[in-house]
Amino acid sequence: MTGSQRMFLRGVARWLGADFTSCRRFHAETVRHESSELPIIHHAGYVCDLPPNHSFPMSKFPRVLHFLLQDQVITHKQVWVPEIASEDLLSRVHTEEYVTNFLHGRISEKDQRKTGFSWSEGLVRRCRYETGGTLLAAEVALQRGLACSTAGGTHHAFPSYGSGYCLLNDLAVTAKYLMGNSSPRRKVLIVDLDVHQGDGTAFIFKEEPCVFTFSVHCGKNFPLRKQQSDLDISLEDGLEDKDYLSTVEAHLPRLLESFRPDLVLYDAGVDPHLDDELGRLRLTDHGLYQRDLYVLKTVVSRGIPAAAVIGGGYSRDVDKLALRHSIVHRAAAQVWRECGL
Ligand SMILES: [Zn+2]
Repeated sequence: MTGSQRMFLRGVARWLGADFTSCRRFHAETVRHESSELPIIHHAGYVCDLPPNHSFPMSKFPRVLHFLLQDQVITHKQVWVPEIASEDLLSRVHTEEYVTNFLHGRISEKDQRKTGFSWSEGLVRRCRYETGGTLLAAEVALQRGLACSTAGGTHHAFPSYGSGYCLLNDLAVTAKYLMGNSSPRRKVLIVDLDVHQGDGTAFIFKEEPCVFTFSVHCGKNFPLRKQQSDLDISLEDGLEDKDYLSTVEAHLPRLLESFRPDLVLYDAGVDPHLDDELGRLRLTDHGLYQRDLYVLKTVVSRGIPAAAVIGGGYSRDVDKLALRHSIVHRAAAQVWRECGL
């Protein structure tokens, strides 16, 4: 933004009686002030082209937003647009060598195979926007209490390599940024309910007292070699709604009370669903809704801000999958209303 554009905005702000200058603190391209409803973070750049028949359901991201708008869960005014994550931000978690190699297409064939993607410029842009989206969701949540992205949750990415469809660890980059350098540092609780263990995130924060990693996952699922989170709950194959929910309920309130986070980052992966192609659990749509509602309400009703990302979900039927991913936004909209945010 140029100086004269900023002056113009300040003039408009004064005219409207609003404080636009504070917006510059956000990692947002366009900041929406029109809506006092649940903020939804979305960027058209969350997607990139993939070879035909690629196993990753890339087109789900815009479809999540489409269904939220079509079903009038949200309006366009609620959509916040993130900036692309800078090299500096990424380097807070990833090694300089990895960031440089990833950004400039110097990842070996072997390392590319581990990620499930062939490198492309589009892939880099997509991952950087997704990371920017998670960061913006967290920043907005700190201001407004709750916010959700329509992507994010790439928890298998390690500091020096990508893995399992995850190239950059958006959750870790966001947590590191939020902690900041000032004293006291913010405390972040990562609640990772994707069906796969958040191994990259657990590894990154294994010695970081300001970030608590809580992962509930299917024990026999990917990754074969698990890392140690601050709290891991390993589930048996085939677990259904009731037992799954009571597991989450047994731990979350206790964690909130003992760790006392300043923010919760919630990975609401839908791959525990019974129709998921990579999950091994048996949750229904209703079970996922109850789960998301429970997590967000439990956090937000205690006055703790929460930022949600969609996490993993795998189906050849992209519309069915996108609808399933939109469950967390629908639950968040209910929490927003009920908690009077
Ligand atoms: Zn997953």
